[in-house]
Amino acid sequence: MQRITILGATGSIGVSTLDVLARHPDKYRVYALSAHERVDALAAQCRAFRPQRAVVGSPEAAARLRELLADLAIDVAHGEAALCEIASSPDTDTVMAAIVGAAGLAPTLAAARAGKKILLANKEALVMSGQLFMDAVKEHKATLLPIDSEHNAIFQSLPGNYTSHAGRSPDAAGVAKILLTASGGPFLQRAVETLEHVTPEEACKHPNWSMGRKISVDSATMMNKGLEVIEAHWLFGAPADRIDVVIHPQSVIHSMVSYVDGSVLAQLGNPDMRTPIAHALAYPERIASGVDQLDLTTLAALAFHKPDFDRFPCLALAFDALRAGGTAPALLNAANEVAVQAFLERRIGFRAIDRVVRRVMDENPHGAASSIEAVMAQDARARAAAGRIVHALSA
Ligand code: NAD
Ligand code: MG
Repeated sequence: MQRITILGATGSIGVSTLDVLARHPDKYRVYALSAHERVDALAAQCRAFRPQRAVVGSPEAAARLRELLADLAIDVAHGEAALCEIASSPDTDTVMAAIVGAAGLAPTLAAARAGKKILLANKEALVMSGQLFMDAVKEHKATLLPIDSEHNAIFQSLPGNYTSHAGRSPDAAGVAKILLTASGGPFLQRAVETLEHVTPEEACKHPNWSMGRKISVDSATMMNKGLEVIEAHWLFGAPADRIDVVIHPQSVIHSMVSYVDGSVLAQLGNPDMRTPIAHALAYPERIASGVDQLDLTTLAALAFHKPDFDRFPCLALAFDALRAGGTAPALLNAANEVAVQAFLERRIGFRAIDRVVRRVMDENPHGAASSIEAVMAQDARARAAAGRIVHALSA
């Protein structure tokens, strides 16, 4: 029995994870679940999966959850320390890191330091603290398996057990390029001049994937692909110039690896996150995920083209941050989180997102990412700076 902690159980990835687990009660048991605010949804999950522990965001949410679960023996706690505990407890083997944003960094790192098997959806944690996080994974012999569909596809297209923390390098494996596919999101074809006026509802309407609101907006700006370039850099040890973004609007190929002998290996499937979740849960075995088999004969033509960096300036900003190194990706990530939140709250327009991120990057020096404290301090400075810019724009 694998004992599982799900950080961010009520989110899109959390719900898909529970869907896969429910298909294999003989293999997996839920040890702990967390949610931030959606107490009722978490209570229903607790009734269905009977974890030992549940963690929420505030004392008020914890009190309400205790009331709802009064007849069950589930330990309820709140806050970051409790998240770190359920991620590192000796009673859990595997941690699904599916909190959105920087809030996931501390518990995901706690799981790494406790040597857990980490299923990583929370890309922001890796973007912020790549070297430190990979060092912790290596030092504490944790296992890191990518859930992001592209990175899971790349992992499947690389030689067995290939990760940078396992000491593998692209050159030694004969890898010429990592080809990171991108759907291009809902605004791939839309006239650029009209992007200023798109609404949060339009930005969240992804053509192929159903996801949380933050990553949906990131997909519309293509900041998501930028964060994924940085994620691929850390997971697979590839420099920025060995990672190509390829627009592939159908999202059938989830990413590819191009080798020096001219071979290109790819992973294909229907766009449903239960496939990478099931892959990582069972790795190196395979289990059913509930996803339909891909019917190649019903597919329209598959298209591929180069990304337009003028249409998607966030993608260029992310490459800049990766090349700058140090705490620059933490700056980028924090500014983006603030700007996306402001957009979702209708305080700024869609095109202001890239402007806020650019200004924060231009106006704030980055430093060495020498410790988690240094990264968190950079995150806080970037949030404050982005907040001031948002305020001025929305005044
Ligand atoms: P979501 O918004 O649907 O869910 C987020 C989860 O995090 C919820 O359970 C919420 O309660 C919790 N949460 C939010 N803020 C929190 C905070 N401050 N402290 C503690 N918990 C908090 O998001 P999602 O779409 O499931 O995405 C989760 C992560 O997975 C993101 O990092 C995203 O980039 C990544 N990811 C998602 C998908 C997808 O298909 N949804 C695909 C690839 C990667
Ligand atoms: Mg992805």
